[in-house]
Amino acid sequence: MVFRLCLFLIASFSIAMPANAGVYLVKNQKEYFAAEKKLKAGDEIVLANGVWRDFEIKISGDGTEKKPIVLRSQEAGKVIISGQSNLRIGGKYMLVKGLVFKDGYSPTGEVISFRRSKENLAHHSRVTQVVIDGFSKLDRYESDYWVGMYGKNNRFDHNHLVGKTNKGVTFAVRLDSKESQENHHRIDHNYFGPRPVLGSNGGETLRIGTSKYSMFNSNTLVENNYFDRCDGEVEIISSKSGSNIFRGNYFDRSRGALVFRHGDGTLVENNVFMGGGKAHTGGIRVINRNQTIRNNYMEGLRGTGFASALTVMNGVPNSPVNRYVQVDNAVIENNTMVDSSRITLNAGADTERSAAPIDSRVAGNLLGGTGEGEFIKVQDDISGIKFLDNMLFNDSAQQEIAGVAKASVEMERAENGLLYPVGLTAGASRDIKPLTRDQVGVDWYPKPASGGRFDTGKEIPVPPGEDTLTDAFATAAEGDQLVLSAGEYLVNKTLPLDRAITIRGSKEGATQLLFARPSLVEIREGGSIKLANLQIDGAAAPDSVGNAMIRTAIFPIQSNFVIKLTGVSVTNLDVNRSFDVIKLGKSSMADQVNIKDSSFNNISGSIVLAAAETEDYGQYNVEYLDVSNSNFKDIGAELFNVYRGGRDESTFGPHFTATNSNFVNVGRSKNNMSGASMVLHGVQHADISNNNFLDAAPIKVTHTVGRPQTRISGNKSKNMLEPVLEELNYQGAHRAILSNNQFEGAVKP
Ligand code: CA
Repeated sequence: MVFRLCLFLIASFSIAMPANAGVYLVKNQKEYFAAEKKLKAGDEIVLANGVWRDFEIKISGDGTEKKPIVLRSQEAGKVIISGQSNLRIGGKYMLVKGLVFKDGYSPTGEVISFRRSKENLAHHSRVTQVVIDGFSKLDRYESDYWVGMYGKNNRFDHNHLVGKTNKGVTFAVRLDSKESQENHHRIDHNYFGPRPVLGSNGGETLRIGTSKYSMFNSNTLVENNYFDRCDGEVEIISSKSGSNIFRGNYFDRSRGALVFRHGDGTLVENNVFMGGGKAHTGGIRVINRNQTIRNNYMEGLRGTGFASALTVMNGVPNSPVNRYVQVDNAVIENNTMVDSSRITLNAGADTERSAAPIDSRVAGNLLGGTGEGEFIKVQDDISGIKFLDNMLFNDSAQQEIAGVAKASVEMERAENGLLYPVGLTAGASRDIKPLTRDQVGVDWYPKPASGGRFDTGKEIPVPPGEDTLTDAFATAAEGDQLVLSAGEYLVNKTLPLDRAITIRGSKEGATQLLFARPSLVEIREGGSIKLANLQIDGAAAPDSVGNAMIRTAIFPIQSNFVIKLTGVSVTNLDVNRSFDVIKLGKSSMADQVNIKDSSFNNISGSIVLAAAETEDYGQYNVEYLDVSNSNFKDIGAELFNVYRGGRDESTFGPHFTATNSNFVNVGRSKNNMSGASMVLHGVQHADISNNNFLDAAPIKVTHTVGRPQTRISGNKSKNMLEPVLEELNYQGAHRAILSNNQFEGAVKP
């Protein structure tokens, strides 16, 4: 009632000047800044409903515990902050509530900052029920944080952060001055929505501290947050300070791990990690001293190496602050890890990381693999870890470990949705209550759906003819399928793709598609394309520099995209000497390029070029490039070129597979600068198997960093040189696995 009265007064007398605590309803930036100057404990600034463009909000003051200073929306969700905007909070007992940041990005290094300036940090302040949706800088390699937390005793709760596409941690807790250490911040009940694969370091969702200040305690509590498909890079959370607590969080199909990168005395308990069988989903990686990991539940995780369900690392003796401190006094007890790919002990052991864990205890854990063998890998001496009463089922360990008993265990799903052993009390407690998506964030802003984007809309029939497809494409909406019949289609305009669209031809008769521009499709922001059952002929395309059937726009594309070709035949891309099928440009990232049951004939350029990031910063253009059951004949340049340079180890990709396909006269044009039929540089996982090659340039594989896995097996070839293999950093023979290949008539290089 008091509140309504105040609003009434404001409405009647323009700006109110209340003697006591007051409410200022402001309608524009001028009114806002006039009111902001006068704020006293207990005052509220209310932003009027509507869109506020290019609004750099600053707020500070001296609130009190009983009378905070409030900045809020008139109605939750109806105040949109867009354009070049951000929010800086200083002072104490400040409360910000109900804003939505979307359709823009911050012109500075942070969207929400818990400091107004370097001198004026926020303390005892709270941000709640705020949405940041896709508020990413346009260039994916221009870095910022969405939230930078400074000061002490701040709280960030019930917020919704989704879709950060540019480099930089989504949420950073900073300890860079005395006023920000031992901070006792609380981060709880937030929805950390999908963060796509960044394709570089700097894609963490949460980081607490940095190596420089990692000897200080942060005392930050991270509780009951939901991490939904946070796939940015190998670290979902990077804890780089001491005495943090991670409790009751839910990790849903998120690639990477919760990593105790620096700092001691971390407690991790009652968290649930559900991988859903998705590649590279991991659990907890342990480094440093006095870490406690208890009563966590992990299921369906498919990560290995540093992203195993549990990774305990080897350290560096007398480690410098930015390397790896030896694990000492770790307690890992009563955790359940089931249907998961790997536990790695003494991970990363090498001549530098030679300090095995000491004085540590692994007890009462229930450990079950996928049944594919060697669930527990041991990479160095484990005598410094005491194993007690652990149970291992449905898999084996690399070596016998006293205190890890093999058992036959029957699992049953309990009412809380988690698996428990029948008649046994091993592993995590039955009291765990897994967090759900509706318990976090806000209820007035939708959380993104789980499924794919293709074929979720209408089916639109398109008759043959000139520009019938061009016109239908222009009106198609997200998820629509354009269904073509038998006959000829001529496209006179490059199709600008900013939605997920399927173009599907007839299965019965031939659907022929000609395009009269240098490209058929140009991928723009938000675009993804699926082509099926089409015969695409490039004969009508003009001679132009950079011809490509599918290309990315010349400006950076923020969102990751998907390109799928199924049952597609492509011919006559030969009007000039470098006409490509798919060409991915700088600052673009494909989650997936998938080619199957397709054929390619008479093409002067490449099939897929994903090699635009040549600066060696560990960046690249495609996460998964998969080719299967397809035929390639008379292709001039290298078929596939995937480039990821540099020494950074923060990504899982790129991945490449080429299987069950035929390659005839490929890569032998004199314009093919690489002289290879496939060029894989810095690819982390490659599988080239069960293919036939005839008259083909050799495959070239260059390993850069990490533990790249390359398998070349079961291939038959005639008149093709053996693969050219190179290791850039690793000392020793090339690590590619070659088996069962027949290189008939091959000349050894
Ligand atoms: Ca990282």
